[in-house]
Amino acid sequence: MRSVPHFINGTEVSAPGELPVYNPATGEVTARVPLPSTTVVDDTVAAARAAWAQWRHSTLSQRTNILFSLRQLLVEHTDELAALITSEHGKTLADAKGEIARGLENVEFACGLTEHLKGGFSSQVADGVDVHSFREPLGVVAAITPFNFPIMVPLWMSANALATGNVVILKPSERDPSVSVRLAQLLVEAGLPPGVFNVLQGNAATVNQLLEHRDVDAVSFVGSTPVARHVYERATQHDKRVQALGGAKNHMVVLPDADLDIAADAAINAGYGAAGERCMAISVVVAVGDIADELVSRIAERVDRLTVGPGDDPASDFGPVITDEHRQRVLRYVTQPDPGVRVVRDGTALTARPGFFVGPCLLDGVVPGMRAYDDEIFGPVLSVSRVATYADAVALINANPYGNGTAIFTRDGNAARLFSRQVSVGMIGVNVPIPVPVSSYSFGGWKNSLFGHSHIYGPEGIAFYSRAKVVTTRWPLASESQIDLGFPRTR
Ligand code: NAD
Repeated sequence: MRSVPHFINGTEVSAPGELPVYNPATGEVTARVPLPSTTVVDDTVAAARAAWAQWRHSTLSQRTNILFSLRQLLVEHTDELAALITSEHGKTLADAKGEIARGLENVEFACGLTEHLKGGFSSQVADGVDVHSFREPLGVVAAITPFNFPIMVPLWMSANALATGNVVILKPSERDPSVSVRLAQLLVEAGLPPGVFNVLQGNAATVNQLLEHRDVDAVSFVGSTPVARHVYERATQHDKRVQALGGAKNHMVVLPDADLDIAADAAINAGYGAAGERCMAISVVVAVGDIADELVSRIAERVDRLTVGPGDDPASDFGPVITDEHRQRVLRYVTQPDPGVRVVRDGTALTARPGFFVGPCLLDGVVPGMRAYDDEIFGPVLSVSRVATYADAVALINANPYGNGTAIFTRDGNAARLFSRQVSVGMIGVNVPIPVPVSSYSFGGWKNSLFGHSHIYGPEGIAFYSRAKVVTTRWPLASESQIDLGFPRTR
Protein backbone atom coordinates (compact mmCIF):
# COMPACT_ATOMS: atom_id res chain seq x y z
CA MET A 1 0.00 0.00 0.00
CA ARG A 2 1.37 3.41 -1.03
CA SER A 3 2.16 5.79 1.82
CA VAL A 4 1.78 9.48 0.95
CA PRO A 5 5.07 11.22 1.79
CA HIS A 6 5.67 14.48 3.58
CA PHE A 7 7.70 17.04 1.63
CA ILE A 8 10.22 18.66 3.92
CA ASN A 9 13.20 20.85 3.10
CA GLY A 10 13.02 20.16 -0.62
CA THR A 11 12.64 16.38 -0.52
CA GLU A 12 9.99 13.72 -0.06
CA VAL A 13 10.13 12.15 3.38
CA SER A 14 8.54 8.70 3.59
CA ALA A 15 6.88 7.42 6.73
CA PRO A 16 4.57 4.50 7.50
CA GLY A 17 1.02 5.34 6.43
CA GLU A 18 -1.78 5.28 8.99
CA LEU A 19 -5.01 7.01 7.91
CA PRO A 20 -6.78 5.63 4.81
CA VAL A 21 -7.14 7.58 1.56
CA TYR A 22 -10.05 6.31 -0.55
CA ASN A 23 -10.96 6.42 -4.17
CA PRO A 24 -14.52 7.61 -3.45
CA ALA A 25 -15.75 6.27 -6.80
CA THR A 26 -14.88 2.69 -5.84
CA GLY A 27 -14.70 2.81 -2.05
CA GLU A 28 -11.22 1.24 -2.14
CA VAL A 29 -8.33 2.37 0.04
CA THR A 30 -5.63 3.52 -2.38
CA ALA A 31 -3.02 4.96 -0.01
CA ARG A 32 -2.32 5.78 3.61
CA VAL A 33 -1.32 9.06 5.23
CA PRO A 34 1.39 9.20 7.89
CA LEU A 35 0.84 10.99 11.18
CA PRO A 36 4.05 12.87 12.02
CA SER A 37 5.57 12.58 15.46
CA THR A 38 6.06 15.79 17.43
CA THR A 39 9.75 15.58 16.50
CA VAL A 40 8.95 15.53 12.78
CA VAL A 41 6.71 18.59 13.21
CA ASP A 42 9.47 20.38 15.15
CA ASP A 43 12.05 19.45 12.51
CA THR A 44 9.79 20.74 9.72
CA VAL A 45 9.26 24.06 11.45
CA ALA A 46 13.01 24.30 12.09
CA ALA A 47 13.77 23.61 8.40
CA ALA A 48 11.22 26.24 7.34
CA ARG A 49 12.61 28.77 9.79
CA ALA A 50 16.15 28.17 8.53
CA ALA A 51 15.02 28.59 4.92
CA TRP A 52 13.32 31.88 5.79
CA ALA A 53 16.65 33.41 6.84
CA GLN A 54 17.57 33.61 3.13
CA TRP A 55 14.17 33.60 1.43
CA ARG A 56 13.07 36.75 3.25
CA HIS A 57 15.92 38.57 1.48
CA SER A 58 15.22 37.10 -1.98
CA THR A 59 14.64 39.80 -4.56
CA LEU A 60 11.22 40.56 -5.93
CA SER A 61 12.39 39.54 -9.39
CA GLN A 62 13.62 36.15 -8.11
CA ARG A 63 10.21 35.49 -6.58
CA THR A 64 8.39 36.72 -9.67
CA ASN A 65 10.43 34.39 -11.90
CA ILE A 66 9.59 31.40 -9.73
CA LEU A 67 5.89 32.26 -9.72
CA PHE A 68 5.87 32.68 -13.50
CA SER A 69 7.55 29.27 -13.86
CA LEU A 70 5.05 27.74 -11.45
CA ARG A 71 2.22 29.15 -13.52
CA GLN A 72 3.63 27.50 -16.65
CA LEU A 73 4.15 24.18 -14.88
CA LEU A 74 0.60 24.17 -13.51
CA VAL A 75 -0.71 24.75 -17.05
CA GLU A 76 1.47 22.00 -18.51
CA HIS A 77 0.52 19.52 -15.77
CA THR A 78 -3.20 20.32 -15.57
CA ASP A 79 -4.37 16.91 -16.86
CA GLU A 80 -2.11 15.02 -14.50
CA LEU A 81 -3.07 17.17 -11.48
CA ALA A 82 -6.77 16.90 -12.31
CA ALA A 83 -6.53 13.10 -12.51
CA LEU A 84 -4.83 13.02 -9.11
CA ILE A 85 -7.53 15.22 -7.57
CA THR A 86 -10.35 13.15 -9.07
CA SER A 87 -8.81 9.88 -7.86
CA GLU A 88 -8.86 11.01 -4.21
CA HIS A 89 -11.65 13.61 -4.06
CA GLY A 90 -14.10 12.11 -6.56
CA LYS A 91 -15.07 15.33 -8.39
CA THR A 92 -15.29 15.24 -12.18
CA LEU A 93 -12.16 15.87 -14.21
CA ALA A 94 -13.79 19.01 -15.65
CA ASP A 95 -14.46 20.29 -12.15
CA ALA A 96 -10.90 19.44 -11.05
CA LYS A 97 -9.57 21.43 -14.03
CA GLY A 98 -11.83 24.32 -13.03
CA GLU A 99 -10.35 24.22 -9.55
CA ILE A 100 -6.82 24.29 -10.97
CA ALA A 101 -7.74 27.24 -13.20
CA ARG A 102 -9.09 29.21 -10.21
CA GLY A 103 -5.93 28.37 -8.23
CA LEU A 104 -3.81 29.50 -11.17
CA GLU A 105 -5.47 32.92 -11.03
CA ASN A 106 -3.89 33.38 -7.61
CA VAL A 107 -0.44 32.60 -8.96
CA GLU A 108 -1.04 35.12 -11.74
CA PHE A 109 -2.10 37.75 -9.21
CA ALA A 110 1.00 37.05 -7.10
CA CYS A 111 3.19 37.51 -10.22
CA GLY A 112 2.34 41.21 -9.91
CA LEU A 113 4.13 41.37 -6.57
CA THR A 114 6.29 44.37 -7.47
CA GLU A 115 3.05 46.33 -7.75
CA HIS A 116 1.43 44.74 -4.65
CA LEU A 117 4.48 45.38 -2.46
CA LYS A 118 4.98 48.94 -3.63
CA GLY A 119 5.24 51.19 -0.59
CA GLY A 120 4.37 54.85 -0.13
CA PHE A 121 6.58 57.92 -0.06
CA SER A 122 5.75 61.40 1.23
CA SER A 123 8.29 64.11 0.69
CA GLN A 124 8.68 67.10 3.05
CA VAL A 125 6.07 66.09 5.65
CA ALA A 126 7.94 68.55 7.88
CA ASP A 127 10.86 70.76 7.00
CA GLY A 128 13.60 68.44 5.70
CA VAL A 129 11.65 65.33 6.69
CA ASP A 130 10.44 62.54 4.39
CA VAL A 131 8.41 59.41 5.18
CA HIS A 132 8.32 56.11 3.35
CA SER A 133 6.64 52.79 4.03
CA PHE A 134 7.22 49.22 2.94
CA ARG A 135 6.00 45.76 3.88
CA GLU A 136 7.98 42.81 5.22
CA PRO A 137 7.14 39.10 5.47
CA LEU A 138 5.87 37.53 8.69
CA GLY A 139 8.02 34.37 8.73
CA VAL A 140 6.64 30.82 8.91
CA VAL A 141 3.04 30.48 7.71
CA ALA A 142 1.04 27.34 8.55
CA ALA A 143 -1.53 26.71 5.81
CA ILE A 144 -4.24 24.27 6.89
CA THR A 145 -6.63 23.21 4.16
CA PRO A 146 -9.89 21.26 3.65
CA PHE A 147 -10.57 18.26 1.43
CA ASN A 148 -12.92 19.92 -1.02
CA PHE A 149 -10.40 22.02 -3.00
CA PRO A 150 -7.10 20.16 -2.56
CA ILE A 151 -5.09 22.41 -4.89
CA MET A 152 -7.07 25.65 -5.19
CA VAL A 153 -7.14 26.48 -1.47
CA PRO A 154 -3.39 25.72 -1.01
CA LEU A 155 -2.78 28.12 -3.94
CA TRP A 156 -5.11 30.75 -2.42
CA MET A 157 -2.67 30.79 0.49
CA SER A 158 0.77 29.92 -0.84
CA ALA A 159 0.93 32.13 -3.92
CA ASN A 160 0.68 35.34 -1.92
CA ALA A 161 2.49 34.00 1.15
CA LEU A 162 5.55 33.08 -0.95
CA ALA A 163 5.35 36.26 -3.04
CA THR A 164 5.53 38.38 0.11
CA GLY A 165 8.64 36.50 1.29
CA ASN A 166 7.25 33.98 3.77
CA VAL A 167 7.93 30.27 4.03
CA VAL A 168 4.97 27.87 4.09
CA ILE A 169 4.14 24.65 5.88
CA LEU A 170 1.05 23.19 4.21
CA LYS A 171 -1.00 20.72 6.26
CA PRO A 172 -3.39 19.39 3.61
CA SER A 173 -6.55 17.45 4.28
CA GLU A 174 -5.76 13.86 5.18
CA ARG A 175 -8.54 12.74 2.82
CA ASP A 176 -6.91 13.84 -0.49
CA PRO A 177 -3.29 14.67 0.33
CA SER A 178 -1.37 13.54 -2.78
CA VAL A 179 -1.78 16.59 -5.00
CA SER A 180 -0.13 18.82 -2.39
CA VAL A 181 3.07 16.76 -2.69
CA ARG A 182 2.95 17.19 -6.47
CA LEU A 183 2.52 20.95 -5.96
CA ALA A 184 5.64 20.97 -3.77
CA GLN A 185 7.60 19.11 -6.47
CA LEU A 186 6.47 21.61 -9.11
CA LEU A 187 7.52 24.52 -6.89
CA VAL A 188 11.01 23.03 -6.61
CA GLU A 189 11.07 22.56 -10.40
CA ALA A 190 10.06 26.21 -10.69
CA GLY A 191 13.18 27.15 -8.73
CA LEU A 192 11.94 27.53 -5.15
CA PRO A 193 14.78 26.87 -2.68
CA PRO A 194 14.49 23.88 -0.29
CA GLY A 195 12.49 24.48 2.89
CA VAL A 196 10.50 27.43 1.54
CA PHE A 197 7.42 25.30 0.82
CA ASN A 198 6.87 22.17 2.92
CA VAL A 199 4.03 19.68 3.13
CA LEU A 200 3.38 18.09 6.47
CA GLN A 201 0.74 15.34 6.36
CA GLY A 202 -1.32 14.69 9.45
CA ASN A 203 -4.52 15.29 11.35
CA ALA A 204 -5.91 17.43 14.18
CA ALA A 205 -2.94 16.68 16.45
CA THR A 206 -0.53 17.91 13.76
CA VAL A 207 -2.58 21.10 13.37
CA ASN A 208 -2.68 21.70 17.11
CA GLN A 209 1.09 21.41 17.42
CA LEU A 210 1.52 23.98 14.65
CA LEU A 211 -1.02 26.34 16.28
CA GLU A 212 1.03 26.41 19.47
CA HIS A 213 4.50 26.31 17.93
CA ARG A 214 6.76 29.18 18.97
CA ASP A 215 8.29 29.40 15.50
CA VAL A 216 5.04 29.59 13.53
CA ASP A 217 4.12 33.22 12.91
CA ALA A 218 0.82 33.06 11.06
CA VAL A 219 -1.98 30.62 10.36
CA SER A 220 -4.25 30.52 7.33
CA PHE A 221 -7.06 28.02 7.83
CA VAL A 222 -9.96 26.94 5.62
CA GLY A 223 -12.39 24.25 6.79
CA SER A 224 -15.53 23.68 8.81
CA THR A 225 -16.85 26.26 11.28
CA PRO A 226 -16.21 24.37 14.55
CA VAL A 227 -12.59 23.74 13.56
CA ALA A 228 -12.15 27.28 12.20
CA ARG A 229 -13.32 28.70 15.54
CA HIS A 230 -10.97 26.38 17.44
CA VAL A 231 -8.02 27.26 15.18
CA TYR A 232 -8.70 30.98 15.54
CA GLU A 233 -8.95 30.81 19.34
CA ARG A 234 -6.00 28.49 19.91
CA ALA A 235 -3.63 30.24 17.49
CA THR A 236 -4.44 33.78 18.65
CA GLN A 237 -3.86 32.62 22.24
CA HIS A 238 -0.38 31.70 21.02
CA ASP A 239 0.19 35.13 19.46
CA LYS A 240 -0.20 34.14 15.82
CA ARG A 241 -1.75 36.24 13.11
CA VAL A 242 -4.78 34.16 12.07
CA GLN A 243 -7.41 34.03 9.38
CA ALA A 244 -9.80 31.07 9.71
CA LEU A 245 -12.46 30.56 7.07
CA GLY A 246 -15.35 28.31 8.06
CA GLY A 247 -18.44 26.64 6.66
CA ALA A 248 -21.46 28.04 4.92
CA LYS A 249 -25.18 27.89 4.22
CA ASN A 250 -25.65 29.80 1.01
CA HIS A 251 -29.07 31.08 -0.05
CA MET A 252 -30.16 31.84 -3.60
CA VAL A 253 -33.13 34.18 -3.69
CA VAL A 254 -35.43 33.99 -6.71
CA LEU A 255 -37.70 37.02 -7.08
CA PRO A 256 -41.04 36.69 -8.89
CA ASP A 257 -39.76 38.64 -11.91
CA ALA A 258 -36.78 36.29 -12.51
CA ASP A 259 -36.42 34.14 -15.61
CA LEU A 260 -37.29 30.80 -14.00
CA ASP A 261 -35.35 28.69 -16.50
CA ILE A 262 -32.18 30.67 -15.85
CA ALA A 263 -32.81 30.42 -12.09
CA ALA A 264 -33.50 26.66 -12.25
CA ASP A 265 -30.32 26.04 -14.28
CA ALA A 266 -28.31 28.08 -11.77
CA ALA A 267 -29.80 26.20 -8.80
CA ILE A 268 -28.84 22.89 -10.39
CA ASN A 269 -25.28 23.98 -11.24
CA ALA A 270 -24.59 25.56 -7.87
CA GLY A 271 -26.55 23.06 -5.76
CA TYR A 272 -25.26 19.79 -7.18
CA GLY A 273 -21.89 20.66 -8.77
CA ALA A 274 -19.06 18.77 -7.02
CA ALA A 275 -21.81 16.79 -5.21
CA GLY A 276 -22.62 19.92 -3.21
CA GLU A 277 -19.20 19.80 -1.55
CA ARG A 278 -18.31 23.43 -2.20
CA CYS A 279 -18.23 26.14 0.44
CA MET A 280 -19.98 28.37 -2.11
CA ALA A 281 -22.55 25.73 -3.12
CA ILE A 282 -26.15 26.88 -3.05
CA SER A 283 -27.84 25.01 -0.25
CA VAL A 284 -31.18 26.84 0.02
CA VAL A 285 -33.25 28.23 -2.85
CA VAL A 286 -35.50 30.95 -1.45
CA ALA A 287 -38.60 31.19 -3.63
CA VAL A 288 -40.31 34.56 -3.18
CA GLY A 289 -44.06 34.94 -3.72
CA ASP A 290 -46.17 32.76 -5.98
CA ILE A 291 -43.42 31.29 -8.21
CA ALA A 292 -42.46 28.49 -5.80
CA ASP A 293 -44.48 25.63 -7.35
CA GLU A 294 -43.29 26.42 -10.85
CA LEU A 295 -39.67 26.87 -9.74
CA VAL A 296 -39.63 23.58 -7.81
CA SER A 297 -41.09 21.78 -10.80
CA ARG A 298 -38.45 23.22 -13.17
CA ILE A 299 -35.63 22.28 -10.78
CA ALA A 300 -37.04 18.75 -10.38
CA GLU A 301 -37.22 18.27 -14.19
CA ARG A 302 -33.54 19.15 -14.41
CA VAL A 303 -32.61 16.89 -11.48
CA ASP A 304 -34.05 13.98 -13.47
CA ARG A 305 -31.61 14.69 -16.29
CA LEU A 306 -28.46 14.58 -14.13
CA THR A 307 -25.97 11.74 -14.44
CA VAL A 308 -24.06 10.74 -11.34
CA GLY A 309 -20.98 8.58 -11.78
CA PRO A 310 -17.21 8.33 -11.45
CA GLY A 311 -15.40 11.62 -11.87
CA ASP A 312 -13.25 10.24 -14.69
CA ASP A 313 -16.31 9.37 -16.80
CA PRO A 314 -17.00 12.37 -19.07
CA ALA A 315 -20.74 11.57 -18.89
CA SER A 316 -20.88 12.26 -15.14
CA ASP A 317 -22.33 15.58 -14.01
CA PHE A 318 -21.05 14.97 -10.51
CA GLY A 319 -19.24 12.24 -8.63
CA PRO A 320 -19.36 10.62 -5.20
CA VAL A 321 -19.06 12.33 -1.81
CA ILE A 322 -15.79 12.08 0.07
CA THR A 323 -16.31 9.17 2.49
CA ASP A 324 -18.90 6.55 3.40
CA GLU A 325 -19.33 8.17 6.82
CA HIS A 326 -20.15 11.49 5.17
CA ARG A 327 -22.54 9.75 2.78
CA GLN A 328 -24.44 8.20 5.69
CA ARG A 329 -24.78 11.63 7.32
CA VAL A 330 -26.02 13.24 4.09
CA LEU A 331 -28.55 10.47 3.46
CA ARG A 332 -30.26 10.99 6.82
CA TYR A 333 -31.64 14.37 5.67
CA VAL A 334 -33.60 12.44 3.05
CA THR A 335 -34.30 9.06 4.62
CA GLN A 336 -35.36 10.61 7.94
CA PRO A 337 -36.61 14.03 6.81
CA ASP A 338 -37.60 16.74 9.27
CA PRO A 339 -41.35 16.74 9.93
CA GLY A 340 -43.02 19.06 7.41
CA VAL A 341 -40.42 18.58 4.67
CA ARG A 342 -41.56 17.28 1.28
CA VAL A 343 -38.93 15.04 -0.36
CA VAL A 344 -39.35 16.00 -4.02
CA ARG A 345 -36.41 13.93 -5.30
CA ASP A 346 -34.70 11.17 -3.37
CA GLY A 347 -31.21 10.18 -4.55
CA THR A 348 -30.73 7.31 -2.15
CA ALA A 349 -31.10 4.54 -4.76
CA LEU A 350 -27.53 5.15 -5.93
CA THR A 351 -26.18 3.84 -2.64
CA ALA A 352 -26.46 0.31 -4.04
CA ARG A 353 -23.36 0.99 -6.19
CA PRO A 354 -19.80 0.57 -4.91
CA GLY A 355 -18.24 3.90 -3.98
CA PHE A 356 -19.71 6.76 -1.99
CA PHE A 357 -22.45 7.92 -4.34
CA VAL A 358 -25.53 9.94 -3.40
CA GLY A 359 -27.93 10.97 -6.15
CA PRO A 360 -29.38 14.48 -6.32
CA CYS A 361 -31.97 15.12 -3.61
CA LEU A 362 -34.51 17.97 -3.52
CA LEU A 363 -36.39 19.02 -0.38
CA ASP A 364 -39.27 21.50 -0.30
CA GLY A 365 -40.77 23.41 2.63
CA VAL A 366 -37.51 23.71 4.56
CA VAL A 367 -37.52 26.35 7.32
CA PRO A 368 -35.20 27.46 10.15
CA GLY A 369 -35.26 25.10 13.11
CA MET A 370 -35.19 22.03 10.86
CA ARG A 371 -31.92 20.07 10.67
CA ALA A 372 -31.97 20.35 6.88
CA TYR A 373 -31.97 24.14 7.23
CA ASP A 374 -29.74 24.63 10.25
CA ASP A 375 -26.93 22.22 9.30
CA GLU A 376 -24.33 22.63 6.59
CA ILE A 377 -25.23 19.41 4.71
CA PHE A 378 -22.28 19.56 2.26
CA GLY A 379 -23.81 17.03 -0.13
CA PRO A 380 -26.10 16.90 -3.18
CA VAL A 381 -29.19 17.92 -1.21
CA LEU A 382 -30.86 21.15 -2.33
CA SER A 383 -33.56 22.69 -0.12
CA VAL A 384 -36.31 25.10 -1.08
CA SER A 385 -37.65 27.64 1.43
CA ARG A 386 -40.79 29.55 0.50
CA VAL A 387 -41.22 33.15 1.67
CA ALA A 388 -43.88 35.75 0.90
CA THR A 389 -41.79 38.85 0.23
CA TYR A 390 -38.33 40.17 -0.66
CA ALA A 391 -38.03 41.52 2.91
CA ASP A 392 -38.71 38.02 4.29
CA ALA A 393 -35.92 36.64 2.10
CA VAL A 394 -33.42 39.21 3.39
CA ALA A 395 -34.52 38.59 7.00
CA LEU A 396 -34.03 34.83 6.53
CA ILE A 397 -30.48 35.29 5.21
CA ASN A 398 -29.54 37.80 7.89
CA ALA A 399 -30.80 35.57 10.72
CA ASN A 400 -28.63 32.70 9.50
CA PRO A 401 -25.41 32.26 11.50
CA TYR A 402 -23.35 31.78 8.32
CA GLY A 403 -22.55 34.54 5.83
CA ASN A 404 -20.27 33.15 3.14
CA GLY A 405 -22.08 33.64 -0.19
CA THR A 406 -25.55 34.43 -1.47
CA ALA A 407 -27.19 35.22 -4.78
CA ILE A 408 -30.27 36.95 -6.09
CA PHE A 409 -32.04 36.17 -9.36
CA THR A 410 -34.09 39.04 -10.71
CA ARG A 411 -34.48 41.41 -13.67
CA ASP A 412 -34.87 44.39 -11.32
CA GLY A 413 -31.58 46.26 -10.99
CA ASN A 414 -32.70 48.30 -8.01
CA ALA A 415 -33.81 45.19 -6.09
CA ALA A 416 -30.42 43.61 -6.80
CA ARG A 417 -28.61 46.74 -5.67
CA LEU A 418 -30.61 46.93 -2.44
CA PHE A 419 -30.02 43.22 -1.82
CA SER A 420 -26.26 43.59 -2.09
CA ARG A 421 -26.39 46.42 0.45
CA GLN A 422 -28.85 44.77 2.87
CA VAL A 423 -27.51 41.22 3.33
CA SER A 424 -24.95 40.35 6.02
CA VAL A 425 -22.90 38.18 3.69
CA GLY A 426 -19.38 38.57 2.34
CA MET A 427 -19.84 37.53 -1.30
CA ILE A 428 -22.91 38.30 -3.35
CA GLY A 429 -23.98 37.24 -6.83
CA VAL A 430 -26.50 39.05 -9.00
CA ASN A 431 -27.79 36.38 -11.38
CA VAL A 432 -24.50 34.59 -10.57
CA PRO A 433 -25.03 31.62 -8.24
CA ILE A 434 -21.40 30.98 -7.18
CA PRO A 435 -19.88 34.45 -6.75
CA VAL A 436 -16.29 33.43 -5.99
CA PRO A 437 -14.35 36.68 -6.54
CA VAL A 438 -11.58 36.76 -9.15
CA SER A 439 -8.11 36.83 -7.66
CA SER A 440 -7.70 40.61 -7.77
CA TYR A 441 -10.46 40.84 -5.14
CA SER A 442 -10.40 38.96 -1.86
CA PHE A 443 -12.52 36.00 -0.76
CA GLY A 444 -14.23 35.84 2.59
CA GLY A 445 -17.51 35.39 4.37
CA TRP A 446 -19.04 37.09 7.37
CA LYS A 447 -20.28 35.77 10.72
CA ASN A 448 -19.49 32.07 11.34
CA SER A 449 -17.97 31.75 7.88
CA LEU A 450 -14.80 33.62 8.86
CA PHE A 451 -12.92 34.22 12.11
CA GLY A 452 -10.44 37.07 12.04
CA HIS A 453 -10.80 40.24 10.04
CA SER A 454 -8.83 39.40 6.94
CA HIS A 455 -10.29 37.84 3.83
CA ILE A 456 -8.12 35.45 1.87
CA TYR A 457 -6.12 36.01 -1.38
CA GLY A 458 -6.12 39.19 -3.47
CA PRO A 459 -5.18 42.49 -1.78
CA GLU A 460 -6.25 41.30 1.70
CA GLY A 461 -4.05 38.23 1.23
CA ILE A 462 -1.04 40.42 0.50
CA ALA A 463 -1.83 42.49 3.61
CA PHE A 464 -2.33 39.38 5.76
CA TYR A 465 1.03 37.86 4.86
CA SER A 466 3.04 41.03 5.35
CA ARG A 467 3.43 43.80 7.89
CA ALA A 468 4.16 47.43 7.46
CA LYS A 469 7.19 49.49 8.39
CA VAL A 470 7.13 53.25 8.19
CA VAL A 471 10.45 55.13 8.09
CA THR A 472 10.71 58.82 8.92
CA THR A 473 13.95 60.36 7.59
CA ARG A 474 15.85 63.56 8.08
CA TRP A 475 19.35 64.44 6.87
CA PRO A 476 20.16 67.50 9.01
CA LEU A 477 23.07 69.76 8.38
CA ALA A 478 25.43 70.06 11.35
CA SER A 479 24.36 73.70 11.72
CA GLU A 480 20.72 72.61 12.29
CA SER A 481 21.52 70.46 15.34
CA GLN A 482 19.77 71.58 18.54
CA ILE A 483 18.40 70.28 21.83
CA ASP A 484 14.58 70.30 21.95
CA LEU A 485 12.70 67.98 24.33
CA GLY A 486 9.27 68.77 22.87
CA PHE A 487 7.23 66.11 21.08
CA PRO A 488 8.17 66.13 17.36
CA ARG A 489 5.72 68.35 15.43
CA THR A 490 5.09 68.75 11.76
CA ARG A 491 4.02 72.38 12.07
P1 NAD B 1 -12.43 20.16 8.38
O1 NAD B 1 -12.69 21.33 9.24
O2 NAD B 1 -12.86 18.82 8.86
O3 NAD B 1 -10.85 20.01 8.09
C1 NAD B 1 -10.07 21.10 7.63
C2 NAD B 1 -8.63 20.91 8.11
O4 NAD B 1 -8.60 20.97 9.53
C3 NAD B 1 -8.01 19.58 7.71
O5 NAD B 1 -6.69 19.82 7.30
C4 NAD B 1 -8.07 18.77 8.99
O6 NAD B 1 -7.01 17.85 9.11
C5 NAD B 1 -8.01 19.81 10.08
N1 NAD B 1 -8.77 19.45 11.28
C6 NAD B 1 -9.91 18.70 11.34
N2 NAD B 1 -10.36 18.63 12.61
C7 NAD B 1 -9.51 19.35 13.37
C8 NAD B 1 -9.45 19.67 14.76
N3 NAD B 1 -10.35 19.20 15.62
N4 NAD B 1 -8.43 20.43 15.19
C9 NAD B 1 -7.50 20.90 14.34
N5 NAD B 1 -7.51 20.64 13.01
C10 NAD B 1 -8.49 19.88 12.53
O7 NAD B 1 -13.05 20.49 6.94
P2 NAD B 1 -13.24 19.53 5.68
O8 NAD B 1 -14.31 18.54 5.97
O9 NAD B 1 -11.93 19.05 5.21
O10 NAD B 1 -13.77 20.59 4.59
C11 NAD B 1 -15.12 20.94 4.43
C12 NAD B 1 -15.47 22.18 5.21
O11 NAD B 1 -14.64 23.26 4.79
C13 NAD B 1 -16.90 22.65 4.95
O12 NAD B 1 -17.43 23.08 6.18
C14 NAD B 1 -16.73 23.81 3.98
O13 NAD B 1 -17.77 24.77 3.99
C15 NAD B 1 -15.46 24.40 4.47
N6 NAD B 1 -14.82 25.20 3.44
C16 NAD B 1 -14.86 26.56 3.59
C17 NAD B 1 -14.30 27.36 2.61
C18 NAD B 1 -14.32 28.85 2.74
O14 NAD B 1 -13.64 29.50 1.97
N7 NAD B 1 -15.05 29.44 3.68
C19 NAD B 1 -13.68 26.79 1.48
C20 NAD B 1 -13.65 25.40 1.38
C21 NAD B 1 -14.23 24.62 2.38
